[in-house]
Amino acid sequence: MKAADFGYRRPGRLEEALRALAEGEGGAMALAGGQSLMPMMNFRVAAPEVLVDLGGIAELRGIRDAGDRLVIGAMTRWAELMASEVIAAEVPLLARALPEIAHPAIRNRGTIGGSVALADPAAEAPAVLLALEAEVVLQSLAGERRVAAAEFFLGHYDTAREPEELIVALEVPKAGGLRCGFHEIGRRHGDFALAGAALAVAVAEGRMTEARIALFGVADRALRAGAAEAALRGAVVGDGTALDRAVAALGEIDFAGDIHASAEMRRHLAGVALRRAWAEAVQ
Ligand SMILES: Cc1cc2nc3c(=O)[nH]c(=O)nc-3n(C[C@H](O)[C@H](O)[C@H](O)COP(=O)(O)OP(=O)(O)OC[C@H]3O[C@@H](n4cnc5c(N)ncnc54)[C@H](O)[C@@H]3O)c2cc1C
Repeated sequence: MKAADFGYRRPGRLEEALRALAEGEGGAMALAGGQSLMPMMNFRVAAPEVLVDLGGIAELRGIRDAGDRLVIGAMTRWAELMASEVIAAEVPLLARALPEIAHPAIRNRGTIGGSVALADPAAEAPAVLLALEAEVVLQSLAGERRVAAAEFFLGHYDTAREPEELIVALEVPKAGGLRCGFHEIGRRHGDFALAGAALAVAVAEGRMTEARIALFGVADRALRAGAAEAALRGAVVGDGTALDRAVAALGEIDFAGDIHASAEMRRHLAGVALRRAWAEAVQ
């Protein structure tokens, strides 16, 4: 199948893009890397009246050091993030997740902003942003607002973004001091995960003073596993019994079942992913 007819705009400035979205009155959609939107249009799951191509807006691209945080432009591509030394040094959890996202051809076009806007429950970036307690920066003609990652992802492909808003950046606290681990389980490398875990822990005097666990691929959105975090917090680094308690605490989560995996299987796989992420973080 081919996409339904659509109009096309390629603004050179952010304000023009915001105006085009507002004029579209809900019928306009942003085009970032097109790696999800183009197939969705070809399958006619999406049928925008106007595509607003963000590819010509230089200010939406790149990584800026803002002191205690990095500001990552929404149009920054996966491949650019993978090549970035500042990402590797300051947000190693994100660096660790990037090679798990799709395949090189898709990473050459796909953007972090596109992934966050799409909010696929099995995507890696939302979970990483949750674990890093990042903020999503949104802009419309009415101005700018920030939404914590924890409040941004609302459900299956559903976010707190309004139709006339664009994601302009992700603000990610520097986390080079946190130990991190990441593991996902899928059918093949590059597939969306059946279950995955992103883990960031702060360690002082041999104990985990803070533990953040974000799961993806397990429910209608990426989510923090609060009870599992509590089981790790305060424990001696490398204490396997604390890890056992954390894995058992995943039982509080309402795991989703579908044609790819039952809820029970996802619960099991999330436990395996958490154990492997933990091993990576504590070693
Ligand atoms: C075979 C295949 C495998 C994949 N595997 C994975 C995987 O394992 N993990 C993973 O995370 N992803 C995976 N993807 C998706 C890929 O990472 C996409 O690049 C990403 O999800 C969407 O980014 P994009 O830049 O291509 O956005 P687009 O496809 O251009 O847009 C996606 C949606 O976001 C909206 N949008 C885009 N940018 C903005 C913005 N700045 N503000 C507001 N709305 C915006 C668009 O209107 C559209 O609704 C896969 C894709 C394919 C085709």
